Amino acid sequence: MRKNIVAGNWKMNCDLSQTQQLISELKTGLVKEFNCELMIAPSFPFLYQAFNDTLETPIEVVAQNVCEAEKGAYTGEVSIPMLQSVGIKTVIIGHSERRDTYGETDELLASKTKAALDNGLRVIFCCGEHLEQRKSGEHVATVTEQIKKALFNLNKDEMEQVVIAYEPVWAIGTGETASPEQAQDMHAEIRAALRSQFGDEVAQHTSILYGGSVKPANAAEIFTQPDVDGGLVGGASLDAQSFLQIADAF
Ligand code: PEP
Repeated sequence: MRKNIVAGNWKMNCDLSQTQQLISELKTGLVKEFNCELMIAPSFPFLYQAFNDTLETPIEVVAQNVCEAEKGAYTGEVSIPMLQSVGIKTVIIGHSERRDTYGETDELLASKTKAALDNGLRVIFCCGEHLEQRKSGEHVATVTEQIKKALFNLNKDEMEQVVIAYEPVWAIGTGETASPEQAQDMHAEIRAALRSQFGDEVAQHTSILYGGSVKPANAAEIFTQPDVDGGLVGGASLDAQSFLQIADAF
């Protein structure tokens, strides 16, 4: 069956000592086994340290972004081989902050995704609608289109290496959460789109995470939805206890 995953997106928070402190608190809290994979995404400069600090723990350190090109004149970018050289096996692609603040298009995200998969990285691919699109009833079409444009060029084996994170933009960092029904409805639509393109087996195997103000207080209700396989957690992942409580919701 598909995996349950709780992933913490630390965004541009935590310097080196704060990164180490938060990891140390997470390790202290790992007193039991969780029914989900645990991932954290610290900032680029601290990935190597974080990778080493989490060796022999169930926590996987993942990257928040990657460049589609292998090397060369891409000032400020970080390549797939660079990530792999510090132990990274998974990368988040298409977060709404990358789309909205840095203008990352569906086409760019498609090439990042393909490059990551071609080189053996697993991808957490983010999608989600803005508030106006939900209000006007275009949310399903918007999200389906994002998925089609970035993922429908993949083959089944590649798609098996993709986790999808549905993150309604209006719920990210706002304290507003999609209702469990809204999350379930969209996750079921996403799975149906995957089924139509890749077949039932791939659709059933693909983990679809919900993201948008997940907290210890709402995680259990969201995670019990049949098509919700975990969470991509921003704000609450910066507190070790909250993050582990969310993971404990499984
Ligand atoms: C995110 O940025 O991926 C996210 C879901 O943030 P938050 O949990 O703070 O809404």
